Amino acid sequence: MFRYSLVLCCLCISISLPANQLKSDNCQRDNVLITYEDSLDYTHACQAIETIINIFQKYHFETSEIIRITFQEKVVIEIKSANEQVAVDEMQVYALYDSTINEMFVSKFNTPYIQSRKAFDYLQVTPSMHESIIVHELAHRFLHLYYRDVLNQKNPDHATHEFFAYYIQIKTLNNSDQNMVLALWPESEFTADLSINSLVHGTHPHKFGVMSFRYAANSDVITQILEGSFYSGDQILENFI
Ligand SMILES: [Zn+2]
Repeated sequence: MFRYSLVLCCLCISISLPANQLKSDNCQRDNVLITYEDSLDYTHACQAIETIINIFQKYHFETSEIIRITFQEKVVIEIKSANEQVAVDEMQVYALYDSTINEMFVSKFNTPYIQSRKAFDYLQVTPSMHESIIVHELAHRFLHLYYRDVLNQKNPDHATHEFFAYYIQIKTLNNSDQNMVLALWPESEFTADLSINSLVHGTHPHKFGVMSFRYAANSDVITQILEGSFYSGDQILENFI
């Protein structure tokens, strides 16, 4: 089930808009390509890219690898059959990073779907929240490249990736939104590194994110992740599931 869910997270299909509605631009950077329809989405993407570049510069990492973000009316994950040949269902999501093709897909801000959704299950999807979700996907992309190019290690496990991406996402929210997010699930905390695992994430992803931020604030897990020395509970799960 664990490996199966990992596979699901890596699969997506693209719902394309008619070509004449789409625009492409690069946030004035050589390695960026944003495909969008609404200028607000483009602005959010450029600001999110600036944010993630500044964060990783503090970790002495820059990259010339392509950063590709495509905004869509609908971002969906295909749920494939056990032999992974046939899509048997699909699930609409806010955004995803497909590491197999190095592209991020993000829902357009001004869609009925996004405006009817709640950020972190309870909060209004503000422009700041929308931008933070792009930062979350960029954190996945940059962590992937950091492990490959700086640490010469394989991509970290799923729980470690989500722990890091949620930490960066919540850290970069504006104060008002961050306070509201951190007021959620006040009793929920990770108690040990091994309790950070994909089963917890799969059960309640946003709660996992808030728990990750709290745990990171009182530990050196982020430092360990960036040193390539962190072991989440997924290391154990992979041996049993
Ligand atoms: Zn994520």
